[in-house]
Amino acid sequence: MTENGVTARGSDVANEAQVTIGEGRAGQLAASLRALTERIDAACRAAGRSPDEVRLLPVTKFHPASDIEILYGLGLREFGESREQEASDKVAQLRHLSRVRWEFIGRLQRNKAKSVARWANTVYSVDSDRLASTLDAGAKAALEAGERDTPLRVLLQVSLDADPARGGAYEAELLTLADRVAAAESLQLGGLMAIPPLDADPDAAFERLARLHGSLLTAHPQATELSAGMSNDLEAAIRHGSTCVRVGTALMGARPITSA
Ligand SMILES: *Cc1c(COP(=O)(O)O)cnc(C)c1O
Repeated sequence: MTENGVTARGSDVANEAQVTIGEGRAGQLAASLRALTERIDAACRAAGRSPDEVRLLPVTKFHPASDIEILYGLGLREFGESREQEASDKVAQLRHLSRVRWEFIGRLQRNKAKSVARWANTVYSVDSDRLASTLDAGAKAALEAGERDTPLRVLLQVSLDADPARGGAYEAELLTLADRVAAAESLQLGGLMAIPPLDADPDAAFERLARLHGSLLTAHPQATELSAGMSNDLEAAIRHGSTCVRVGTALMGARPITSA
């Protein structure tokens, strides 16, 4: 995944808006949120879709809890995180913010699944029966302990290039996995997520993803979410039916370089 996802178009608008909105991190985030919202609206219009059909999930990984408080002040209530320890720390630090939904979008090791099942509203990266069972057990325990009051919503991550290093279930396994998740007591099957292969043509990748989502919907009509599109490719994803774009860089700026 690229770490420098700001498009020329997005950042130009953001830089211009910043001058009028104000200085400092709050002004910066307000300006880039405005520019990003305009960009998503324009992509929806170009695709003949209503902006109501596409949700923005701000991705706050690697950025401090203070940024999340600013975004909360701007009206955002959902935040995407991808590393368990970092996310758990932020959840604890930001308990005073009411009605926040934490969305876990990263690869998840089974030994971290219990923790995530306590506080996540949704896990976007379920790609195996084993992970699904561990999350189901974790969500059940969290429900019984009163740590959560709804089932854990799950999106299946599908691999579009069959590269095991990048995560995602293989296409051939997808419907079996969907049946397992749908039958799990403490999980709720919400839909599908994918990250296109690095060098792929995003339109071709998202077109294929949309077809896979179609077959998932035939078997599980409630699995309506299609989470596709990031800073660099959200227009293509919206053209192909995305209902949730996950945007980090174009909103937050560049992430610090890490080895993670
Ligand atoms: C980091 C991340 C994103 C956001 O990527 P940007 O290119 O910064 O917008 C989206 N989805 C997943 C799964 C991620 O890990």
